[in-house]
Amino acid sequence: MIAGERLARYGFGDGHPFGPDRHAAFFAEFAARGLDKRVRIMETRSATREELQSFHTPEYLDLVARASVSGEGYLDAGDTPAWRGVYEAAADVVGATLLASEQIMAGKARRAFIPIAGLHHAARGTAAGFCVFNDCGVAVEMLRRNHGLKRIAYVDIDAHHGDGMYYGFESDPDLIFADIHEDGRHLYPGTGSAEEIGRGAAAGTKLNIPVPPGADDSVFEAEWPRVLAHLRKYQPEFILLQAGADSVEGDPITHMRFTAESHARAARDLAALADELGHGRVLGTGGGGYNRINLARAWTGVVQGFVDTPHKHN
Ligand SMILES: [Zn+2]
Repeated sequence: MIAGERLARYGFGDGHPFGPDRHAAFFAEFAARGLDKRVRIMETRSATREELQSFHTPEYLDLVARASVSGEGYLDAGDTPAWRGVYEAAADVVGATLLASEQIMAGKARRAFIPIAGLHHAARGTAAGFCVFNDCGVAVEMLRRNHGLKRIAYVDIDAHHGDGMYYGFESDPDLIFADIHEDGRHLYPGTGSAEEIGRGAAAGTKLNIPVPPGADDSVFEAEWPRVLAHLRKYQPEFILLQAGADSVEGDPITHMRFTAESHARAARDLAALADELGHGRVLGTGGGGYNRINLARAWTGVVQGFVDTPHKHN
């Protein structure tokens, strides 16, 4: 797991839904369950400009760099404010996802989890919805560049549609995308209809599953097998999971009613599927989640799911 003070710095100030206390809330539950004795913890590193540029445009990186010095203005149309040091803090989040994927590729870990990561709204050329740099997007590009991976899966169970990942790879047939989210007619960012299946050669590689406000675990149970079948069809060489806890009942900014068990099941099933595919590689990220009790339960459930899924040799 990648965690610690540097990672916790990514936030929008005390009292903000995306505040620095989210890391502490998760970590307290993680330790209370004794997971700190079963999981190796590493401090993050910074992503380099070159790494960030594998996904983001140079113009956008320049804009964030300037705003990080002044600490003023917005990094998008008005959701995501700049603050002093925002570039460095956001690069530390990307660095965590890169470090975790490197650990997995080096065989030093089969799975990994990062609580403050999975910033799925950030696009190639702009911030969006509290997300400055898209760590999963950069990780996909770097796994291809440094490790020659071809087919990578991105699975997203955050309440919000992972639009930065969807549109960032909409025409890319090798990014296998599956996203269960609250119907965009009721929630930001408004995208992710079932008709959005990818473009051109990528048509069919993207699976969007919008669910109605109030959707509970019975809806998750009904839809989740479609995600697993989608991944089995394309046999990805690496699986990314964005386990946003804002799909759990009681979140202050969404309307979904999953329990943390959905997140734990997602982690167990993806770990088992990755083993079945012969490589075992799954990297989980925390994503959204603004109710501190929910995020602590959902994310520790993901870690528990990774730890408890026995590796089957075949
Ligand atoms: Zn979200």
